[in-house]
Amino acid sequence: MKIIMLGAPGAGKGTQAIMIADKYGIPHVSTGDMFRANIKNNTPLGVEAKKYMDQGQLVPDELTVKILLDRVAKDDCKNGYVLDGFPRTIPQAEVLEKALKELNDGIDFAIDVDVPDENIINRMGGRRACLKCGNTYHVEFVPPKKEGICDNCGEALVLRDDDKPETVKKRLDVYHQQTQPLIDFYNERGLLKSVDGTKPMNEVFDSIIAILGE
Ligand code: ADP
Ligand code: ADP
Ligand code: ZN
Repeated sequence: MKIIMLGAPGAGKGTQAIMIADKYGIPHVSTGDMFRANIKNNTPLGVEAKKYMDQGQLVPDELTVKILLDRVAKDDCKNGYVLDGFPRTIPQAEVLEKALKELNDGIDFAIDVDVPDENIINRMGGRRACLKCGNTYHVEFVPPKKEGICDNCGEALVLRDDDKPETVKKRLDVYHQQTQPLIDFYNERGLLKSVDGTKPMNEVFDSIIAILGE
């Protein structure tokens, strides 16, 4: 099963993608996590990506498409995957579609986690991220068991550089301009499913299971 998560920054794509990956036994593939790992390790790709991420801009398609296609070509992606944060532009979606078509394959579902901009601002300020395993928490809505520590791997949680309010506003603008058109793109292909992302995390997950099947 190959799934794409769509939605604004902070809509809960990552949170749901991790639960999907766990339930269906497929890898969670997050381009944001891959960029952050590169930044942490100070690789040339990380240095380049950081320039854009800190501004709330998208990393250029050439760089992004390459790491994504390399990742999904790995063995553990044979039976499917859940893409979180990719594609984010129409050209990215077209490249993915073409690469899959060459393998006689395609995406099964594009799930749009729908959350209005007003809710996003609150969510981002309270988001705490684990840069080691990619789990995210919220100080109020999704608190970790022990304050400031990742439930999953024990790493200290951080407020991401790009979750500051000024950058979040910019990221929302970028989302509306460059990423939201993907909703029509997948709708035209009959692959789009929408869920109400303003509901509590477990209710959102139940509506996703209703789409994907038990
Ligand atoms: P969020 O989950 O809050 O939407 P991500 O972790 O997915 O954030 O992405 C963080 C940043 O990484 C983005 O603002 C962007 O700069 C960069 N990025 C991640 N995925 C992509 C992509 N597919 N194309 C371009 N830039 C990306
Ligand atoms: P995205 O990957 O779309 O950027 P995240 O999954 O990182 O979004 O979620 C953004 C923030 O909102 C995090 O702090 C997360 O813990 C919190 N969150 C996720 N889902 C919900 C929900 N259904 N209700 C309230 N807060 C949520
Ligand atoms: Zn962790």
